[in-house]
Amino acid sequence: MVTEPSPPSPRSRLPHPHRDEVEVVRELHGALPPSLDWRAVMTTASPWVQAARDTPAPFWAMESLLREYPITSAEGLALMRLAEALLRVPDAETAIALTADQLGRADFESSVVEGPHRMLASLSASAIALSKKFLPDADDGDGAGLLKRLGAQTVVAATVRAIQLLGRQFVLGRRIAEAMNESRAERKHDPKLRFSYDMLGEGARTERDAKRYFASYLDAIGAIAGGRVGPSPESADGISIKLSALFARYEDAQRARLFAELMPRVWQLVQAAARANLNLTIDAEESDRLELSLDLVEALAERIAIEFPTWGGFGLAVQAYQTRAPALVHEVARIAKAKRLRFMVRLVKGAYWDGEIKRAQELGLQGYPVFTHKRHTDISYLACAHALLGHAPHIYPQFATHNAGTIAAIVQMARARGAPFEMQRLHGMGESIYREVMRTHEPPPLRIYAPVGEHRDLLAYLVRRLLENGANSSFVHQLADESLATDALLAPPLYAVETRLPGPGQPLPPALYGAKRPNSIGVDLACAEDRVPLYHALASARIGAVPEATATDIEAAMSRLHAGFRSWSATPSAHRAGVLRRAADALQARLPEFCALLVKEGQKTLGDTVAEVREAIDFLRYYAAEADEKLVPTVLPGPTGERNTLRLHGRGVFVCISPWNFPLAIFTGQVAAALVAGNTVAAKPAEQTPFVAQALIGLLHAAGVPSGALALLHGAGETVGAALVGDARTAGVCFTGSTAVAKLINRTLAAKDGPIVPLIAETGGINAMIVDSTALPEQVVDAVVQSAFRSAGQRCSALRLLAVHESVADGVIEMIRGALQELNVGDPARLATDVGPVIDDAAFDELSKHIQRLRREAVLVGEARASSEVPRLVAPIAFELQRIADVKQEIFGPVLHIVRWGGEVDAVVEQINALGYGLTCGIQTRIDSRAQRLASLARIGNVYVNRNMIGAVVGVQPFGGEGLSGTGPKAGGPHYLYRFCSEQTVTVNTAAAGGNVELLAKDDTAAPDVASAP
Ligand SMILES: Cc1cc2nc3c(=O)[nH]c(=O)nc-3n(C[C@H](O)[C@H](O)[C@H](O)COP(=O)(O)OP(=O)(O)OC[C@H]3O[C@@H](n4cnc5c(N)ncnc54)[C@H](O)[C@@H]3O)c2cc1C
Repeated sequence: MVTEPSPPSPRSRLPHPHRDEVEVVRELHGALPPSLDWRAVMTTASPWVQAARDTPAPFWAMESLLREYPITSAEGLALMRLAEALLRVPDAETAIALTADQLGRADFESSVVEGPHRMLASLSASAIALSKKFLPDADDGDGAGLLKRLGAQTVVAATVRAIQLLGRQFVLGRRIAEAMNESRAERKHDPKLRFSYDMLGEGARTERDAKRYFASYLDAIGAIAGGRVGPSPESADGISIKLSALFARYEDAQRARLFAELMPRVWQLVQAAARANLNLTIDAEESDRLELSLDLVEALAERIAIEFPTWGGFGLAVQAYQTRAPALVHEVARIAKAKRLRFMVRLVKGAYWDGEIKRAQELGLQGYPVFTHKRHTDISYLACAHALLGHAPHIYPQFATHNAGTIAAIVQMARARGAPFEMQRLHGMGESIYREVMRTHEPPPLRIYAPVGEHRDLLAYLVRRLLENGANSSFVHQLADESLATDALLAPPLYAVETRLPGPGQPLPPALYGAKRPNSIGVDLACAEDRVPLYHALASARIGAVPEATATDIEAAMSRLHAGFRSWSATPSAHRAGVLRRAADALQARLPEFCALLVKEGQKTLGDTVAEVREAIDFLRYYAAEADEKLVPTVLPGPTGERNTLRLHGRGVFVCISPWNFPLAIFTGQVAAALVAGNTVAAKPAEQTPFVAQALIGLLHAAGVPSGALALLHGAGETVGAALVGDARTAGVCFTGSTAVAKLINRTLAAKDGPIVPLIAETGGINAMIVDSTALPEQVVDAVVQSAFRSAGQRCSALRLLAVHESVADGVIEMIRGALQELNVGDPARLATDVGPVIDDAAFDELSKHIQRLRREAVLVGEARASSEVPRLVAPIAFELQRIADVKQEIFGPVLHIVRWGGEVDAVVEQINALGYGLTCGIQTRIDSRAQRLASLARIGNVYVNRNMIGAVVGVQPFGGEGLSGTGPKAGGPHYLYRFCSEQTVTVNTAAAGGNVELLAKDDTAAPDVASAP
C-alpha cells in the first residue's frame, strides 16, 4: 500500500545548485569592488612568498616530501594510502601486507630531491626505500618467511610511527587539555593568537557515535571557557562543530528527524558557547546539506535572538567553491539582520571538491554545484569576501585561506572598507606565509583552526589535508614548487573584460559518455525544487488493470510477430537505433511519471525509482549506439577476386521474460536489445508489475516500433510464460529471474523439435562481501547497508553474506547494529523512507519463515524498526553464522548473514566460489594487490572494490554472472547484442563474370623507389 506522497518541501531561498558556471562567473565579476587593485596585491604578497620560500617553516619538510611525491605519482599515492589506512590495522600480518603492497609499487629511490630541505626529504625517501628491502615482496602474496617477517614488523612499526608523526603535524593534541597546553605555548610567541578547536570526528553512522562526539564537543566548550565569561567571541578561543558528527542521518531526506533530534543537541552546544561568550562555528560540509544547514541556522538564530540577544559568537562556514556561495552570504546576512544578531562567518574555498564532482556525475545531474575551474573559486572567494565585509556589523568575517594572493587581496579590501575581520589558518598549514603576514606593519587578527583527537578520528581529516597539500592546483603545493615564478604564483584570477570565459573544466554529467550517447539525467533528491515534479506525478499516478493474455491472445500475437519479423528485420539497423533513441528521449521527458508508477506498482522508494528510470533510458541509448557500431556489415580480408562480408540479423521472435524487481529497467533492456538486433518481441512482464511494462510498450510504439514487432503478453509464468517458451515460432528467449525457472526454460527449449534456440538467462546469487582489517569501517557499513537493505534486499545483486576479518569484526558488527537502528522502514512514497515493503504476501511469508528459522539457529546481530501502518514490511535484519557454507540458498529480502574469517583470505573466496553462484561480490581492502588477486580468483561476474555492490551502470559495469547466476552475456555490455543475432557471411566471386577487373585495373605505372632498391 502506498499512501499519499510527502508534502513538497519549502521552496529554496537559494538559486538552483546547478547553474551555468559562465553565467555565475560573469555575475561574480560584477560583484567585485572596482577598486580591487591586483598589482598592489602582488606587491604586498611577493615578499611573503619570497620569505616563505627562503625560510620555510619546520613543517616544510613534509611539504617537500609531498612535493617530491605528488599524489598523482605512485609514491605519493602510496604515502596517502598508508596514511589513510595503516594506523587502524590491528593485526600485524595485515599491516605487513598493506605496507608491502603500497611501498612495493612505489619507487622512492630514484627521485632526486631539490630545495632547502633536501637533506630531510632525501632522508625520508631513503628510509622508505630501505624499508622496502625488508618487506616481503609484494608479488609473494601475503605469506612470507619468518626471517623476512621479523624484519618486516620492524619496518611496519617504523612506518606507523612515521604516519603518526605525519598526522601529528595537523593535530594539536589528542585531548582538549593537551591541545590547550600546546596553544598556550604557541601564544607565548604571539599573545593575540586565537584558536578554534575542532574535535575530530565526522560522519557518525550510529547514535552511539553521535553521542560520543556530542560529549566531546560539550566537554571541549567547558574546557575552553574554563568557567569564565570571555570579553568577546573575537578575542577568545572558540570551537568548530560538524553537524554530521552529531547525527547519523544528517541528510535532507531526514529533515523532520533532524529538527527533532539533532536540533536539541546543537542547541545545547550553542547555549554552552553563548553562556561563555565564545565563538561556535558550524563547519561547512557537502553541498547537498547546504539548504538543510541554512534552515537549522535560521531556527537556531530565532532562539538565540530570544535567549542570547547580545551574544555575537554564533557562526558558520561558507564555501566559496559552491556556485550558490554569494547568494548564501546574502541570505545569512539577511537572517542575522532580521534577528538583530551578529554572526561570525568563516569564508573558506571548500574541502570536498572531488567528492562533489563525483556525486554529480553519479547521479547524472544537469551540472555541478561547485565551480570546475580553480580560478573561478578564487573569484567567488573575493566576491563573497567583499559582500561579507559590506554586511558589517551583522557579520564578522573570518577569512580562512593559506593563499598569499587571496590574503593580500582580503587585507586590501577590508582596510578599504574599515570593517573588522580576522584571518584563519589550519594548524600545520600556511605557517610560513602567516609568519610573514604577522610581521607586517598592521597585522590582522589571526585564529588557528586546531583539530583535536585520537588517531582513529584523524584519518579522514588527514587525507583531506594531504590531498590539499599535494594537489597540483593548490597554493601550498605551488609555493613549494620553486620553478614557478612568484608572479605566476600570484597571477590575478580575474578575467580581462574581453576574455571569453572557458567552458566546464570537467565534462558535465549529461556528457559523461562523450558524443556516442548522452547520459540519462537524474534528479537531485536533496534539492527541493527538483523533487516537485515527482510529487506532482505521485499525486496523479494511478495503476490500472492489465488484461491477462489468453491462449487465443498468445496465438494471435505470435503469428503477428512471426509475420512481422520479415519487415522489421529488413529495416536498416540505423532506423531501429533511431527508434530506440526517440524512446529514450520520451522516457527522459516522462521520468517523473514512470517513477510514480514504480512507486505505486513496484513499491519502490523514490531514490530507487529515479535510478531505475535512468537505467532504462541508458539501455535504450546504449543498445542504439551498439547497433550503430556492431550491426553494420563488416568487409573481411581475403584473396583478390572475391568480396567477403559478415552481416548480423535478427533471429525471429524473441521471448523476453522479466522480473518484478526491476519492472522497467530489465524489461526495457531485454526488449530494446532484442528489437534493435532486428527481432520481433513477445514481452512478458512479471505478474506483479504489468502496468509499468504496458506504459513502456505504449511509449515504444509511439516512438516508432510497429505493432507487428512488439507485443505485451501479461500473465502467469506457468501459463503465458510456458506457452511462449514452448511455441514453435520462438527463436530465442531472454530471461531474468530465479535459477530454478531458468533451468525449467532451458529444459523446455531443449525438449522442443526444430532449431536449437538460444537462452540468455540472468539469475540470482548468494552475493558476498569480503572485508579485511585495512578497510574503513564507516565505508564498509555504508556499503553494507546500501547493498543488503536498499530496495528491501530485492535486487539480484544484493549483499547476502558479509565475511569480516576477525580482528575488526566486533567493531564492524557493532556499527551495523547501530546503522540498522537508523533506517526508516515504511511507506515508499515518502522521501524519508529507506526501505519499503516487499513485493507481495508470498514473499513476505517466505521471508518471515526464514527469519524465524534464523532467530532459532543463528545469533541475532540487530534489526531495524518497521512502521506498523504499512503492510508487508520486513524490517532489515542481520544474523551471525558460523561458516560461509551455512548460507544455503538465496534469500530475496533484507536479511544479511555475517561470518567472521581468519587465516588466508584466498580461502574465503574459494568458499564463496563453492556456493556455486557467481553474480556480484564486494571486496573491501586497501591492499590493492589483494583486491586484484581476489577478483581474479572469484568466479563472479561483477566485482566491486571499496564501494557498494549494487546499481550497475549500463555500459560502465555490464551486469551478469556465471555458474548458477546465469549464462551471460552481460546486460549493458559490449557482447550482449551478438547473442540476439544470427550471423551470415556473404562471399561474392567478383571475378566470375569474365575476370578480375579490379586486379587488372590496378595502376602499375608508378616509378620504382630508387632509394630502397638493393
Ligand atoms: C581555518 C580553516 C577552516 C576551514 N574550514 C572548512 C570547512 O568548514 N569546510 C570546508 O569545506 N573547508 C574548510 N577549510 C578548508 C578550505 O576549504 C580549503 O580547502 C583550504 O583552505 C584551501 O584553500 P586555500 O585558499 O588555502 O588554497 P588554494 O590553493 O588557493 O585553494 C584550493 C581550493 O580551491 C578549490 N579548487 C581546487 N581545484 C578546483 C577546481 N578545479 N575548480 C574549482 N575549485 C577548485 C578547492 O576548494 C580547494 O580547496 C578550512 C580551511 C581553513 C584554513
